[in-house]
Amino acid sequence: MEINRREIFRYLGYGATPPDEATAQLAEQCLRDLEQHAACKSVHRIFPLTREEDTLYFGGLTVTSRNLGKNLRGCSEIVLFAATLGPAVDRLIARYSHMQMSRAAVMQAAAAAYIEEYCDTCQLEITAQAHARGLFVRPRFSPGYGDFSIEYQPALTRVLDTPRRIGLTVTEGMALVPGKSVTAIMGLSPTDEKCHIAGCEACAKLDCAFRRS
Ligand code: SF4
Repeated sequence: MEINRREIFRYLGYGATPPDEATAQLAEQCLRDLEQHAACKSVHRIFPLTREEDTLYFGGLTVTSRNLGKNLRGCSEIVLFAATLGPAVDRLIARYSHMQMSRAAVMQAAAAAYIEEYCDTCQLEITAQAHARGLFVRPRFSPGYGDFSIEYQPALTRVLDTPRRIGLTVTEGMALVPGKSVTAIMGLSPTDEKCHIAGCEACAKLDCAFRRS
């Protein structure tokens, strides 16, 4: 996987400013460590979608969210998706935070870019399979985004059986374990909106009726 370095420095708050040499080298070191320790795993299932207004029904679940409802308008099915980098990355971050907080901050940012890149890779595969069925994928929409509550995490991970399939669990506080993990819903629509892989925030279609905002 080719990790976008700009994303790492964006997570670190550099914006358009290039990082200093020491931070750039530290990011490369972190990426080498992630290559060695990350155990990327994902699982997804496709379900028919039915709805009443912004109450959505899929996979035996009932989810109420105006923002997710808007993003899924025109979709006949959804992809329920989960991915993780595995527990070794959490241990790496913990070890770094004992050594040097700045190192841990760069590792956090590198791991965040790593899991996003891995999710993009998985989404491209899902997109190719959907295209073969004449369907088009909307961007990943994760619990905690807009009014899509994180309280849905246990139900989503249960439907995907993530503890057994990829070693991903949810704490009572609704945090995902391992820490560098993602759950998300992607709509499948018969119309091609030419969605941006990085989501609505990176997409130029400001007037899109399905834009998550
Ligand atoms: S704003 Fe762009 S990425 Fe978001 S739903 Fe519309 S076309 Fe897709």
